[in-house]
Amino acid sequence: MTQRVVVVGGGMAAVRLAEQLVGADVRLTVLADEPHAPYNRILLSAVLEGTHSADALPLRSPAWFEAQGFDLRLGARVVEIDREAREVVLVGGERIRYDRLVLAPGQIPTLPPIRGLVRRDGTLHPKVHPFRSLEDCRRLQHSVVEVLAHTSPRAVVVGGGLLGLQVARALSVRGVLTEVVEGAAHLLASQVGPAAGSVLARDLRRLGTEAYTGARAVRMTDEGVRLDNGAVLPTDLVVLTAGGRPSTALARRAGLMVRRGIVVDSTLTSVTDDRVHAIGDCAEHRRRTTGFVAPAWEQAEVLARVLRGEAASYAGLRSVARLRATGLEVAVLGDPQAAEGEVVEVTNPIAGSHRRLVVHGGRIVAAALVGDLSRIGLITQLYDRGTILGPDEPGQLLLPESADAPAPLPDEAEVCACAGVTAREVRACASVAECVEGTRATTGCGGCADVVRRLVGKATPQPVAVG
Ligand SMILES: Cc1cc2nc3c(=O)[nH]c(=O)nc-3n(C[C@H](O)[C@H](O)[C@H](O)COP(=O)(O)OP(=O)(O)OC[C@H]3O[C@@H](n4cnc5c(N)ncnc54)[C@H](O)[C@@H]3O)c2cc1C
Repeated sequence: MTQRVVVVGGGMAAVRLAEQLVGADVRLTVLADEPHAPYNRILLSAVLEGTHSADALPLRSPAWFEAQGFDLRLGARVVEIDREAREVVLVGGERIRYDRLVLAPGQIPTLPPIRGLVRRDGTLHPKVHPFRSLEDCRRLQHSVVEVLAHTSPRAVVVGGGLLGLQVARALSVRGVLTEVVEGAAHLLASQVGPAAGSVLARDLRRLGTEAYTGARAVRMTDEGVRLDNGAVLPTDLVVLTAGGRPSTALARRAGLMVRRGIVVDSTLTSVTDDRVHAIGDCAEHRRRTTGFVAPAWEQAEVLARVLRGEAASYAGLRSVARLRATGLEVAVLGDPQAAEGEVVEVTNPIAGSHRRLVVHGGRIVAAALVGDLSRIGLITQLYDRGTILGPDEPGQLLLPESADAPAPLPDEAEVCACAGVTAREVRACASVAECVEGTRATTGCGGCADVVRRLVGKATPQPVAVG
């Protein structure tokens, strides 16, 4: 019998699931509370910066959903899950039945403890902006246009993580003098170590943005933002990028097991109810939540196979994050701070680059690259495959690629980390458009766009025989 699959949330994980369910024997309904067609959240900072138009964000249009026979409901907020009746309840009271329920509501931003952030009437201080949705982005863009009319417009970004750095770069490219405040001792502290953090801080400074690390914003004043070290940063805008947690309220109220995220097993099924699944930023697998598009898409692909009745399981080992910010290049594989193993590291603060590989039993188990990502395709491939390296190889991988004779990417090298697309698949496409449609490469963080343009339609280079 055809199963009714209902998805809560119309974000990046939900779209990937829908793509993978094309042609499956399911009746798919996607309930999305935002009013827009599902879009690429990662590109919001590019919209803020002005390099992308908001029209370029949608991942799939309502017409695409309709053409697949899928029911996409926009502006449809789910307020309750009735597990006994197997129904979800929308904000207006409408009830929708499911055979399988997929929870994909992403994260909710959390407000940092800054006095004066929220006014007596519960609204945010007018200078303050969260940055998670297209609505947030539009409101911030509007304020940027207003403050650009001032003589020296200034902004403070609270949070020096991936998102904070993206927003800071975008504001700075727009001509707003931007400062970053980060409570941890260095930038990107969840992903990289102090050496990489200081390379990034130096790069930012070179690009005109000062970062205050080990400092917390504690109060909004009429002049600006006061830090816990007593300094006041005068500002016209404050953007909050620190803090976000898996959206779990619905699941918790429905009695599903929730720790930090909604707890699922390796088939992405709730450990409490085998008709309920969770994917993306809201899911917790083996005590880990993620917060990046690559694992969200991998989970969506595994769950689609599970819903098709195939044997599939999510190992949860792979974690890839790329920073999308003009002038800053960062890629992180696994957890280079916590992973156990031998560390091979090269830092060149003058050139603005840092590379760290963690190798265990000859295999790359984690990596952080800042500044020069020329080797990222190869390193990702070796990491994904668990290839055992010779004693000299980790060191060689950390050397910059020679400009005169760049080694051709092997067919198996992963080009698009978000959608898991290899060089072979890209080479097999006749055009970039065919590659985008057929593989979804470039539609995540977009970090692979240049490589895709170079490889599309090209045959695999053959090794040259010598002698
Ligand atoms: C500005 C920004 C930049 C980012 N940059 C990167 C990056 O460079 N690289 C990277 O890997 N990741 C990045 N991320 C993270 C990435 O976007 C997420 O990991 C990814 O979107 C997760 O997909 P998801 O479907 O779980 O959640 P989301 O894409 O957030 O989608 C969840 C959707 O569910 C909706 N929803 C919530 N509750 C309900 C409800 N009750 N009823 C109906 N709908 C509901 C939400 O409104 C939202 O539209 C970024 C995130 C942001 C905000």
